[in-house]
Amino acid sequence: MTAPQISELAPPLRLLLGPGPSPVHPRVLRALSTPLLGHLDPKFLEIMDEVQAMLRAVFQTANPFTIAVSGTGSAGMEAALVNLVEPGDAVVVAVAGVFGGRMAEIVGRCGGRAVKVEAPWGQTVPAEAIGEALAREGKVKAVAVVHAETSTGAQQPLDGLGALCHRHGALLVVDTVTSLGGLPVEVDRWEADAVYSGTQKCLSCPPGLAPLTLSPRALEAVRARRTKVQSWYLDAGMVADYWAAGKRLYHHTAPISMIYALREALRLVLEEGLEPRFARHRRHAAALLAGLAALGCEPQAAEGQRLPSLTCVRIPPGVDEAAVRRDLLAERSIEIGGGLGPLAGKVWRIGLMGEGARQESVLAVLAALEQALSRQGKGPRPGAALAAALESYARA
Ligand SMILES: *Cc1c(COP(=O)(O)O)cnc(C)c1O
Repeated sequence: MTAPQISELAPPLRLLLGPGPSPVHPRVLRALSTPLLGHLDPKFLEIMDEVQAMLRAVFQTANPFTIAVSGTGSAGMEAALVNLVEPGDAVVVAVAGVFGGRMAEIVGRCGGRAVKVEAPWGQTVPAEAIGEALAREGKVKAVAVVHAETSTGAQQPLDGLGALCHRHGALLVVDTVTSLGGLPVEVDRWEADAVYSGTQKCLSCPPGLAPLTLSPRALEAVRARRTKVQSWYLDAGMVADYWAAGKRLYHHTAPISMIYALREALRLVLEEGLEPRFARHRRHAAALLAGLAALGCEPQAAEGQRLPSLTCVRIPPGVDEAAVRRDLLAERSIEIGGGLGPLAGKVWRIGLMGEGARQESVLAVLAALEQALSRQGKGPRPGAALAAALESYARA
């Protein structure tokens, strides 16, 4: 057999403005190429402690159990649910997009019964509807919600939700994959019990780790299980013994290089400061939205419920949306996202996450969209979207 002839790795440079992954800072790329330590080396254990301390700061929690699960955001979702849900448990799942649906799917695979409380895509699920489901179902193990629904660009309000769940004896599980590091995630103030994220969105780190924090109440529920956790790899008890200071029992080999990368990405987040970082995401999202409005693109989510990290807009009538995305990628090397599920072919999803939330990104994507639309004989006079974005910056 002849060996395949493969050229040196040289992918094109892209401006990543889709629903993830997001652009990665050169300091994080450098951290990835740091020589490895053994995963039980005392020096590596110190690095794990540092990552845990920084994760608590960005999650705004004092939870001792705050770790990075080996795997992407979906592994965080699976870890949160597989540890809490036992066969027969009822779990109320707020579904208003792809990721709420994925949570319900995992609950079912854990042998649980997913009680879906649905809202149209682009809207959020009212707390009253969750309260009604809790009252109706009686014994509910947990309520699961998506803070930042990346498939629709809507932001689920969380104020008071933890207290509501606890009054009914249920735990609160929150997906913060597209919010952590981009908009406020306040685990302790929300009284949330299991909160997970991913590295590849607003943390601007490559995909590969899933930050996860569990409250003492959630850990108590894990300890009180009647059955073993179905997943050996994601079993919180065993993983905790690996991450816990003083224990460090071998469970699986931590992805060393990814831990290095996350450490540097978190350092960047904390150097900037959470509040300035959130304000930066808001400022650029506002300018993007102003520019998109000038292109005739209306946001899918209602005012006051829109994510700064992901803008989902409806495509103007008569536009070949896939051709526009192909054009952006081929001509401008810019990636944006299309719609999923019922929104396929109907929306564009533009992420301004972490390092991507910059004026250069906003102006580049608006100029590219203007050009692509004008090639189809659509859109406003050249420069109109850029002017609208610049006016938004001047007002900010
Ligand atoms: C991206 C995303 C996930 C899944 O993360 P992966 O890194 O793709 O596994 C889960 N939830 C939400 C809200 C997301 O945006």
